[in-house]
Amino acid sequence: MSIISDRINNAQISSSVNFAQRVREKASSGEKVYRFHIGESHFKTPTEITSATKSSLDAGETLYSSINGIPELREAILDKLKAEQNLEINSNQIVVGNGSKHLLYKLFQVIINPGDEVLIPVPYWVSFPEMVKLAGGKPVFVSAPDNDLNIQEMQKSISPRTKAIIINSPNNPSGLVYSEEKLKAVLDLAKSNNLLIVSDEAYEALCFDDENFVGPAMVGDPRLENVCIVQSFSKGFCMTGFRLGYIAAREDLIKSINLLGSHLTGNVAVYTQRGGIAALKNKNQIVEDFINKFQIKRDLSLEILQDLKKMIIQKPQGGFYLFPNIQGYLENSKYESDIDLAVDLLDNKNVAVLAGSYFGQPGFLRISFAQDREDLKAGISNIRDFLWNLE
Ligand code: PLP
Repeated sequence: MSIISDRINNAQISSSVNFAQRVREKASSGEKVYRFHIGESHFKTPTEITSATKSSLDAGETLYSSINGIPELREAILDKLKAEQNLEINSNQIVVGNGSKHLLYKLFQVIINPGDEVLIPVPYWVSFPEMVKLAGGKPVFVSAPDNDLNIQEMQKSISPRTKAIIINSPNNPSGLVYSEEKLKAVLDLAKSNNLLIVSDEAYEALCFDDENFVGPAMVGDPRLENVCIVQSFSKGFCMTGFRLGYIAAREDLIKSINLLGSHLTGNVAVYTQRGGIAALKNKNQIVEDFINKFQIKRDLSLEILQDLKKMIIQKPQGGFYLFPNIQGYLENSKYESDIDLAVDLLDNKNVAVLAGSYFGQPGFLRISFAQDREDLKAGISNIRDFLWNLE
């Protein structure tokens, strides 16, 4: 009998972990490696945030605290959601957690019974299916040739066991921001089938070209009856190491997440939460700066890649990834898959990017452009030269 549970044996280690190990080995041999595979920007956490955290530590805020988050942070989150999403909710509908990854894990533990199904649009962030499986649920993938939401397929995929639909906009990896029309159609489906929309808004702050973020709650669910908002401080504020996020949802859901939380991590470190308050207080100015810089990096990357004939690339509307279709380089080639091509790119040009297969969409590459300008120029030029030689 295996000492390891079936639950864990049936889960897949993040499939990109092996690739990341290969990257580390190459870097440890002293070679310069362009690490465009990681979902983290090179910017430093803004000083407004780190100063608030330091002050909290100096003030001795280092003990246990309330499980659902300190009231000041929950109030700040409430203010933000009311102002930006016109929500009609109260602070009992908010729980603060140790990063959105952990919150999503808790959420699926709370809503899924064995065999329940969760619809996941393709391409998807790698952890969604595994989190659903770890809760005993079944991921049901909904594909669309253009990477957009496929409402017809979604409707067809709903069964009596369907519990939830995951929406992640701006999307990791595609960079797509779903239209209001599509979100409204998903919300209608959720309402008429009594489903929960799990809206992962990790990249909400990073919408380009002066477009404002629109989430599924904003198109017709101000009380969050069918929408559960999952938010992270990691991407928009460069706070990945703080491990801070929150969920806004129906009160019964929040109560259940708190119950589970009381047996898990308990509270998030208070000094981390103080950083979160400072982030929200200074959001406009912090985020405006990041968006401007990321947009320049996006446009520079697209410019360098523009003369590649076999690459099909949609301009990302949000987030910090390019997700080009590179199927044209795989057909009649020495590569069996996009993973093979990504390994060859790493071996020969020292650029690490993730294969679309990891996100359920083979034939694509995910390239993070959240890099220092010189590295970005050099790394993207290496990708361009590598693919150019395959044309
Ligand atoms: N959701 C999406 C779509 C992500 O891309 C990530 C991180 O890559 C997360 C959630 C996790 O973020 P956090 O750092 O808050 O756990």
